[in-house]
Amino acid sequence: MGRWGYRLFEGDQDLDIFHDLACGIAEENGSPEIVWLFKDGFFPSYPTPGFVPKESNQPEGTDALKMATARRIFDSGLGAGLMAKYRALENSGDSRSFYSNKYVVIILGAIFVRIGAQMSKADVEHLRQLALATPSREGFALPLWDDGFRGPGLRQFIAALDGYQAGTPHDFQGPSCFACGKAKDHIGTEVLSCGRCHFAWFCNKVCHSSPHFRWVAAC
Ligand SMILES: [Zn+2]
Ligand SMILES: [Zn+2]
Repeated sequence: MGRWGYRLFEGDQDLDIFHDLACGIAEENGSPEIVWLFKDGFFPSYPTPGFVPKESNQPEGTDALKMATARRIFDSGLGAGLMAKYRALENSGDSRSFYSNKYVVIILGAIFVRIGAQMSKADVEHLRQLALATPSREGFALPLWDDGFRGPGLRQFIAALDGYQAGTPHDFQGPSCFACGKAKDHIGTEVLSCGRCHFAWFCNKVCHSSPHFRWVAAC
């Protein structure tokens, strides 16, 4: 399993699960907007490799409009059905070799947060508990043991749940603090790039000197 960063969707595990979910969702609902959402709408800078949904026309309109339409499809029942379906599987025997069905629910939750689709308070709280119970590592990890979260990804996910608002998409690809997980739309100012390692981000002096930050950035 490869990893090029420590946050959500910055390792093969997350993208593999995303890919499986996206294919399943596009199979269930092949609307052009849903297909667009998973093909180009999530990661414009690295389109999901190998994702070839059934033939579909490119939907009309701006990306914001397509995102809003996809969200409306989620909110009109598709999303609730998906959450119920994958939550029902989360404690079942693990059919996948590298990741648990609980982590699949976490990635599904991240998809909801990304597009601002409606989740109940109970779902949000459930995702928080799942995430906090998932393996999370700071610093170096052997690839074989690199499942679950890395510290910055866990904190990024928790901060995204804290800031979750139905109807407001949250982009996981933008900068987020490695120590507290918050992004620009949580703190209202730019998240800064570390001048020493040029790898990690931080939001203020306290976070820059926190052990969480130093572990990961090693700077
Ligand atoms: Zn911070
Ligand atoms: Zn640094």
